[in-house]
Order: sequence, then C-alpha cells, then structure tokens
Amino acid sequence: MECALCSSIAAGSGISVNSDWILQIPGGRAPLAGWVILTPRRHRRRLDDLSESEAKTLGTLLTTTSQSVVKFTEATRTYTANWAENTPHVHFHIVPRLPSLPPKRLGWDVFQMMSDQSTRPPTAVQEQTLSSIAAHVTALHKQYEETVR
Ligand SMILES: [Zn+2]
Repeated sequence: MECALCSSIAAGSGISVNSDWILQIPGGRAPLAGWVILTPRRHRRRLDDLSESEAKTLGTLLTTTSQSVVKFTEATRTYTANWAENTPHVHFHIVPRLPSLPPKRLGWDVFQMMSDQSTRPPTAVQEQTLSSIAAHVTALHKQYEETVR
C-alpha cells in the first residue's frame, strides 16, 4: 500500500527541521493557520517503530513546535495528537488552541474541523505560518543540540 505521507515527502512537501523530522500542513490545507504535523522523514507505522535517533529528538521537537505554534498564532497553548489511523505513518498534529475556537470545537472536537472544507485559511497564509514555525523550530533545535554536546 502506498503511503500518502511518504508520497508527499518524496514530492518535496514540508520543511525539514532536522535530519529525521519534517513539519507539514496536514493534507496540504489545514482548518487553522499554524495547524501542523510533525512526521518522521522515513516511513514509521507506529510510535514504537521509531529509530533511536528519531526517538531521541522527538520530545524536544514536540516542545519547540508547540512553542513556535504559540509564537506565530493567537494560540494560548496547543493540542497534540498522533493516531496514524487513516494515514499509517506516525504524525503528530500540533493544533493551535485559539481563544476564538467555538466551544463545540474544543478538545477532541477540534479534529471535526478536518472534515469541514469551508473554513480553511488561504494556502499562502498557511504556508507562511508553516515557514515561520519551521524556521523557529530549526533554530531552537540547533540551540538545544549545542547545549547537549
Ligand atoms: Zn509513510
């Protein structure tokens, strides 16, 4: 079975934040600007399939991605989840928890927005937000790498 994430990565979608991990806009067009996915470059079906190198940087990258989403959106914090159910390739959704989200879209229900195509921000806005987040994550990750050497 062909993997949609592997295909999109092979086609150049997303921005590398280190040698193992990529940030992308889920499905190419997310319900909210700053809603990103952090995914391993190589095909990993399950969290327990991650290599030692991928596992070693995951915690830092989840934290710095969350910090960056808050920095470049109006979010007060983020939601984070990995199911790898419809796309069997590990990917963490990092979702800006915006003060403007309606009560019916808080918590788990924010993911209902993925099926609503009518509320998508313009692609250019999403791509600019992703670029800002990825540049910030890359810089924070390099600082972290230098401090643990
Ligand atoms: Zn894959």
